Amino acid sequence: MYLPQEIIRKKRDNIELTADEINFFIQGIAKDTVSEGQIAAFAMAIYFNDMTMDERVALTCAMRDSGMVIDWSHMNFDGPIVDKHSTGGVGDVTSLMLGPMVAACGGYVPMISGRGLGHTGGTLDKLESIPGYNITPSNEVFGQVTKDAGVAIIGQTGDLAPADKRVYATRDVTATVDNISLITASILSKKLAAGLGSLVMDVKVGSGAFMPTYEASEELAKSIVAVANGAGTKTTALLTDMNQVLASTAGNALEVREAVQFLTGEYRNPRLFEVTMALCAEMLVNSGLATDIEQAREKLQAVLDNGKAAECFGKMVAGLGGPEDFMTNYDNYLETAELVKPVYAETTGYAFAMDTRALGMAVVGMGGGRRVAADTIDYAVGLSDMIRLGDEANADKPLAVIHARNEAQWEEAAKAVRAAITISDQKPEPTPEVYRRVRPEDV
Ligand code: URA
Repeated sequence: MYLPQEIIRKKRDNIELTADEINFFIQGIAKDTVSEGQIAAFAMAIYFNDMTMDERVALTCAMRDSGMVIDWSHMNFDGPIVDKHSTGGVGDVTSLMLGPMVAACGGYVPMISGRGLGHTGGTLDKLESIPGYNITPSNEVFGQVTKDAGVAIIGQTGDLAPADKRVYATRDVTATVDNISLITASILSKKLAAGLGSLVMDVKVGSGAFMPTYEASEELAKSIVAVANGAGTKTTALLTDMNQVLASTAGNALEVREAVQFLTGEYRNPRLFEVTMALCAEMLVNSGLATDIEQAREKLQAVLDNGKAAECFGKMVAGLGGPEDFMTNYDNYLETAELVKPVYAETTGYAFAMDTRALGMAVVGMGGGRRVAADTIDYAVGLSDMIRLGDEANADKPLAVIHARNEAQWEEAAKAVRAAITISDQKPEPTPEVYRRVRPEDV
């Protein structure tokens, strides 16, 4: 028998907690026998004294097991269950292509995604720009669409990792979000509750990333890989670039359009292609669907070329209530803004640097994201034709095309876009799409 205050005292005094103590505390959170004040003190003690990898594994497993852990065995999938998680970015629409691509290669991707947070876009918000698409289906429909399409992307349900919900709400108001142990357990408890066989983690690096420095992103990636494998789920991570908008678009309906065009081969932004392929290849290797990265990439290219990946996306959309003919007639369904007009740089020169966070906030400012959780989203607004670092901005090449509702909104966004992109007569050094891979043996 333990007392919450004794567990807090131990962590406060920098003594390692046992798995039983951590379990007791987390069960108390789920049962409401641990108070908000105790959660806050516990989180702050961890913030200052941190946790060993063993403690992180125990915390993750306890939070994962605080609610339902999905068991897919009754579905008799004939392939591995696999997923990806990203720390979030701007124009990061990878999930919408990655799920169908891995599904088309024989994987099953029951992806539970989140809404936009701060400057980053949310996969669920993007999918909700498709009329009829239901992000909260019953467990039966979720399972059936995963089986039929190989992929189903839906929203978080209340029964998955409920302890994290309470802990996160307290961290959010007690300045304890930015701790790698707590972030690791928060992200992984929700993901692992989805009953995955393997996982790839995309940790963003750069001016639009959640983590403030390369070193912090790397530390988070290593923590996630160590803890997820420690919890029994084969996991690798990639550090990928967020020093510029990843896709050519940023904004909900605009990104869905780009995802469809990517899958059908109409248009593939090369940086988005590279990051998506790299993450998908990890998933195929981690789940045993490919023997190595090279073979994985060949398989992935094949399902893009033969239309199977596009077919899986279309099946998912129709299975979750969206239009049956979405892949061919997407333009009839996706909402568009009234004013679509390019914004040019004030001087000619190379796009040298991007404040990617500010570009994300420019989309939020137009109504394409939320300032507070209760805000509604305008799916039509955003940016397209984004300039890439190293491109020359001139009278023919705008910084972006702004999709706005009216002139005043366009003006405000134009000001933000100009301020966010540094123009120089010097061409910047190219940045890689993927900085490094983190495998269990690297941590
Ligand atoms: N995202 C999460 O889900 N949890 C965190 O703690 C941080 C980011």
